[in-house]
Amino acid sequence: MIVAMQEKATEEQIDFVIDAMVDAGVGVHRTTGASQTILAGVGPTASVDLSKFELLPGVLHVHRISSPYKLAGRGFRPEGTIVEFRNGVKVGNERIAVMAGPCSVESHDQIFETAARVKAAGGSFLRGGAFKPRSSPYAFQGMGISGLELMREAADAHGLLVVSEVMEISQIESMLPYVDLLQVGARNMQNFNLLRELGQVRKPVLLKRGIAATIEELLLSAEYILSGGNYDVILCERGIRTYETSTRNTMDISAIPVVKKYSHLPIIADPSHGTGRRDMVAPMAKAAVAAGADAIIVEVHPNADKAASDAAQTLYLDQFDKLMGELRVIATAIGRTM
Ligand code: PEP
Ligand code: MN
Repeated sequence: MIVAMQEKATEEQIDFVIDAMVDAGVGVHRTTGASQTILAGVGPTASVDLSKFELLPGVLHVHRISSPYKLAGRGFRPEGTIVEFRNGVKVGNERIAVMAGPCSVESHDQIFETAARVKAAGGSFLRGGAFKPRSSPYAFQGMGISGLELMREAADAHGLLVVSEVMEISQIESMLPYVDLLQVGARNMQNFNLLRELGQVRKPVLLKRGIAATIEELLLSAEYILSGGNYDVILCERGIRTYETSTRNTMDISAIPVVKKYSHLPIIADPSHGTGRRDMVAPMAKAAVAAGADAIIVEVHPNADKAASDAAQTLYLDQFDKLMGELRVIATAIGRTM
């Protein structure tokens, strides 16, 4: 950590800050410049609350040099993490994976038709919510376990993996027989009790970025899961809330290279929730692949206009086919496959 003192800081103020750093277990290296004193702290600074130092008299600013997350940081596995699934599908290698399906599982015909088309187009995961986090308590809340049963059957019939959202600790156990990838939704990114519990599970977790979360907060949330011993975590950029209203969220494409720089975990992109509009999904999916995303997760539905949730952002199956062809061209251009 670095503490930069104000130009007019007195010797007493500087000594007070040094004592506070030493009390926090940090070794201090002082540089006294012509006009300003800089205090460099080394040691267990990850656990130090920096804001405490910012408020001390005479301090100009304080910043961290080492990251507050250790297991999620790139340095822990410089070569990058590849998450491997039971059928050999991998996320995080040169092959870009595709996860597609409806926002919510609604019926046998809906999910079977979708699974057939996702497989035919080259997808490897069937997505679909059975427990739905809806903004309104009056909106469709999902089919629950019977939805997961349908999804599992449809996925198995077509050799696909299943990704579905877990909303609370009590659902984990009952979901395990049906899902291959447990999705933590944006609204639960900082549900730390849920994250800790998922650290105990031996099944991959898809952690979506919260609607107002910084990338550092996303990586700290991943750290909760990793610190429990579950290293199979995949991160997902799904748009953040900004002052822009022309899209549902603002798709933060730059999060992809930023996460790649700071973390070894695979990062995938969700242009459906990232834009909220089906006419914007393909351009953002293409941008995400070009930017280095390890997979794309998109909402598709055989009768997209009538989808029980997120209809406006759901692709028609023909649109999905076309998008897959375009993504392949981009993947090839950047030296990857699909
Ligand atoms: C979803 O995938 O349907 C979903 C609710 O996503 P998010 O948590 O990103 O809003
Ligand atoms: Mn959705």
